[in-house]
Amino acid sequence: MTPESTTLAIAYIGLGGNLDRPLDTLASARRMIAGLARVRETAFSSFYRSAPMGPANQPDYINAVMAVETSLPPLALLKAMQRVELSHGRVRNGLRWGPRTLDLDILIYGKLHITDEGLTLPHAGIADREFVLYPLAEIAPTDLEIPGMGRLCDLLIACPRRGLDVVVHG
Ligand code: ATP
Ligand code: MG
Ligand code: MG
Repeated sequence: MTPESTTLAIAYIGLGGNLDRPLDTLASARRMIAGLARVRETAFSSFYRSAPMGPANQPDYINAVMAVETSLPPLALLKAMQRVELSHGRVRNGLRWGPRTLDLDILIYGKLHITDEGLTLPHAGIADREFVLYPLAEIAPTDLEIPGMGRLCDLLIACPRRGLDVVVHG
């Protein structure tokens, strides 16, 4: 075993979807992620309903955030998330923020702060998105330092909750 393969990181994954039965899809994605090799679920937020970002003529979204402990390196974790998206009918049609069955974004990966080809960590949208920050705050320490962005509690103060509703309590 290489030393790298035994290094554990805490990662937070944002789950979202607004086509077909998003609550069922997110629950299924959660099970699939938790069952991946080298990934262990440590926490899962409530499910939230949020108004769509971007094009408005699409259904509301269901969102949640999951915490995992993983020995997968970041790019391998991203590839694994993309496989889970595909197995839940995700189609990338080029429309930014268009409707989708399942979106899995790696929000935070340990203390990493990188812009790699195809992977930015922490995820660039965290600070502006109430549907990320509020579920994240349920399962992460409020003084969590988000690399390059500041403390979670300070980001929450700057991001009003707006129309976010809990639909299923975690
Ligand atoms: P947004 O990233 O603004 O939430 P989106 O989730 O709808 O938009 P996608 O179509 O899912 O965007 O992903 C576009 C690209 O974003 C992917 O091909 C992936 O390589 C890249 N990407 C960069 N950073 C991340 C990250 N932290 N998590 C997931 N994908 C990322
Ligand atoms: Mg996204
Ligand atoms: Mg995405």
